[in-house]
Amino acid sequence: MSKTLSKNAEEISLYENVKKQFDTAAKIMSLDKDISKILEKTTNEIVVNFPVKMDDGRTEMFTGYRVQHNNAAGPYKGGLRFHHDVDIDEMRSLATWMTWKSAIVGIPFGGAKGGVEIDPSKYSKREIEKISRRFIFALGANIGPEYDIPAPDVNTNAQIMGWMVDTYVSTTSPNNRQHCFHVITGKPIDLGGSLGRDKATGQGVVFLIEQWAKDTNFDLSKASYMVQGFGNVGSWAAKLLKKHGSNLVAVEDMTGAIFNANGFDADELSEYVQKTGGVKGFENSEPISHEDFLRTRADIFIPAALEKQINEETAHLLNVKLVAEGANGPTDLAGDKILEERGIHLIPDILCNAGGVIVSYFEWLQNKRSEAWELEQVDEKLSKKILHGYKKVQKMAEKHKCNWRIAAYIVALSRIETIYKDRGIFP
Ligand code: NAD
Repeated sequence: MSKTLSKNAEEISLYENVKKQFDTAAKIMSLDKDISKILEKTTNEIVVNFPVKMDDGRTEMFTGYRVQHNNAAGPYKGGLRFHHDVDIDEMRSLATWMTWKSAIVGIPFGGAKGGVEIDPSKYSKREIEKISRRFIFALGANIGPEYDIPAPDVNTNAQIMGWMVDTYVSTTSPNNRQHCFHVITGKPIDLGGSLGRDKATGQGVVFLIEQWAKDTNFDLSKASYMVQGFGNVGSWAAKLLKKHGSNLVAVEDMTGAIFNANGFDADELSEYVQKTGGVKGFENSEPISHEDFLRTRADIFIPAALEKQINEETAHLLNVKLVAEGANGPTDLAGDKILEERGIHLIPDILCNAGGVIVSYFEWLQNKRSEAWELEQVDEKLSKKILHGYKKVQKMAEKHKCNWRIAAYIVALSRIETIYKDRGIFP
């Protein structure tokens, strides 16, 4: 799978996509012009270059980013990604989407995103630990438990969050250390992580698919589905959909694409990926090309890898009824238009993958209150919040007769517009 498949998709940067989506929504809802000026800019853009000593004794320099889009609704919040495609344009886009996401599901956070421009597969575990720690050290006071709260994203996980929180806490004065574990969410459970955070994004995707199935009288026990990206989001979504008896017919990740008309067992595939690092070579699977993967006949497609996968070149290949965007920004503007014209339903990323930030919010609250919630409690609260967001987006789409992506933007922008109107602009 390539990050972008078509030349046209390459020509429009990710952040230009975000701005165009924003402009369309702002126009439809008549967003206040002054508030629009604020929201179309990011607030802070931090770039850090930092050295790390490698296993062989060499010193290598790394570039890391933290973009803080907006904090009108609460502290900046968003994941940290380790990927060779990380750049300022991608970080701006992802940070902006985080602001909209938190606003849609009504949690008191703003939006941020960060990452390090590396291919993590090229480094040892020990080197990844050092890079993680040194990145947090370099960010210093640009993050904080009541100011900016990172979490896992592509190629980062609970273990990396553990190293990061340890670094933050160890570089804080001793009398304050116990007060700042909520600086990072998605931590290992014993370090203050929340039950249900590992599956939260995939769980949110599945709660929304269940609601969509209810609304459209669609029987999930007879559904087939395909998943792109089989990491945290994709594998959890796949495992949780399996409980309905739905059939996982095709999966693609960075090692290739596989197909089986009779369906894969998502739990077994997940165990296989844990062991081997990818879906390639899984038993009873037929390897297929990227194009054949996209052409797979299925009811539901869950993109859960990277951006701009559904674009001018690929959107017409899809043979599905619903696209549930587990990934951030998997569909570009041209892709959106084609899906709409073809009558393919879409649950947009800023609603669809909000489960992660919702449970991150629960983790943050638990840490602040020194509490540990039961999994059932976390799931119930997650379902309530994400379905509340779904209803708001559904109503907004009906009100403005627009697609769900634009409706989701309008829900988010309306909330932030109200906050700015209540607060006013300092001084
Ligand atoms: P992950 O690192 O756990 O998994 C990423 C998956 O995508 C892997 O299967 C990997 O093989 C595939 N992938 C990565 N780079 C690829 C490449 N160049 N070519 C082909 N496949 C590639 O990441 P994740 O946390 O599951 O995140 C996936 C998407 O979901 C991202 O867009 C992320 O921003 C979004 N997201 C994640 C969370 C979360 O809680 N982790 C929350 C909201 C949104």
